[in-house]
Amino acid sequence: MKIKVLGVYGSEGQGQRPSAFLVNDRVLVDAGTVPGALNVEEQREIEHALLSHAHLDHITGLAFLTDTLAITSSPRPVIAASIAPVVEDLKKHAFNDSLWPDFTTIPTARNAVLGYRTLPEEVESRVGELWVTPIGVDHTVPAVGFLIHDGETGFVYSGDTGPTEKLWETARGLRGLKVVLVETAFPNRLDGLARASKHLTPAMLGREMKKMPPDLPLWIYHIKPHFFEETAEELQKIDPARIHILEQGKTYTL
Ligand SMILES: [Zn+2]
Ligand SMILES: [Zn+2]
Repeated sequence: MKIKVLGVYGSEGQGQRPSAFLVNDRVLVDAGTVPGALNVEEQREIEHALLSHAHLDHITGLAFLTDTLAITSSPRPVIAASIAPVVEDLKKHAFNDSLWPDFTTIPTARNAVLGYRTLPEEVESRVGELWVTPIGVDHTVPAVGFLIHDGETGFVYSGDTGPTEKLWETARGLRGLKVVLVETAFPNRLDGLARASKHLTPAMLGREMKKMPPDLPLWIYHIKPHFFEETAEELQKIDPARIHILEQGKTYTL
């Protein structure tokens, strides 16, 4: 399984793109950035976008991807997939013909470049060539993490979350998981802000680790660009053998 890091940050900075990952060239896991990281041919290969929640730093790339697909007359749509409340948020607040066009009717309703799919929570669904289970996490809006595998190998993806239980509990019961992709947003001194916005600091991650499947490597993303160095230093002090900050632009193989 191939995971390309399109964007690895919890916001946007100069050359620093919001969180988005591309699995096996076909399935996006969050879509904070897409055309900023892929050429047009690569964008047209994408079949699904798994979305953890509807915050802008996870969906802006989908907005611009649909624009690319429309203007290049893509023969197939990208299917945005998540739990029902997240799909509702996308329809109501993003692709609503006000903030952005409703691309489920462009160029025509029968031939649209955007489709939606509602995934049942805590149930495994087939998405392209992957198996995906959304599990609710603790964020300020409806949000899920995902358990993703291809029958042989797989990973846990936390989405945006503060301290949480169900995702780690479910992941502990699965075999074949190779890595945990987990958010960390703020340095330890901004603990109050992390709690209010339901994100993790390195210290909070240290406590979450005890609930995760033991011994799996942790691949970190979603650090706020403004606090990158400070947060990275604190992360390295927890467990340098197990914790690795993902690199934007790089492709990882499981
Ligand atoms: Zn975010
Ligand atoms: Zn968020």
